[in-house]
Amino acid sequence: MNRQSTPSKTATVYERQRLALLDVLRSRGIHDERVLSAMNAIPREQFVPQAMMGRAYEDSALPIDNRQTISQPYTVALMTQELKVRPSMRILEIGTGSGYQAAVLAQLGADVISIERHPLLSQKARTLLASLGYNVNCRIGDGTIGYRDGEPYDGIIVTAGAPDVPEPLARQLAIGGVLVVPVGPRDQQTLYRVTRTGPEAWTAEERGPCKFVPLIGRSGWDEAIGQ
Ligand code: SAM
Repeated sequence: MNRQSTPSKTATVYERQRLALLDVLRSRGIHDERVLSAMNAIPREQFVPQAMMGRAYEDSALPIDNRQTISQPYTVALMTQELKVRPSMRILEIGTGSGYQAAVLAQLGADVISIERHPLLSQKARTLLASLGYNVNCRIGDGTIGYRDGEPYDGIIVTAGAPDVPEPLARQLAIGGVLVVPVGPRDQQTLYRVTRTGPEAWTAEERGPCKFVPLIGRSGWDEAIGQ
């Protein structure tokens, strides 16, 4: 076996699969080429368990540690597109998981704080993101109460399903800021784009059905065994 050539061959296979995935996302209505090019720059295979690397560029959610998931690429692209990320925007992510969504936001130049309730996931994501050169502030805790130290945020993205829009998060938005959040029953949600239009005013638009693991915490669902 040629040890030198194996990694580059593998990289080429992943690169091809990544480009094919981008075409799938375009065909599903993702039109923001900045989002697509950010996703093209990120090795998703490194964010999934080793046994799943061959499936990293399927348009599907995959299992990670602590019985959680790395979100489906289409969902990551759609939520990122809805945030209209610009360089230096201050973004809070709730649900670091694998760290992939945080990498996409950082690749777009955002200043990202990401909160995860499972310490193991947060630590693994922090290490991986740093090794790839992404400067993401990974915190451990209950993200449903937000993160007061960084407020107000231009964008907040919740990557777990909430029973209602968590009020602390809506209140930590800057005026004009956008909260993208899946809301609904535990097994099926609707994606909402909530915009803060004034000190006590918000508007909400529906962005279609989605399915996430539950958001567990003070302004989310009660804790359940194994989640
Ligand atoms: N954004 C992740 C990624 O790119 O891999 C996917 C996130 S996964 C679908 C949802 C994550 O939200 C899980 O890792 C879960 O532990 C986390 N989570 C659930 N409730 C939370 C809370 N109150 N605060 C922080 N994280 C939470």
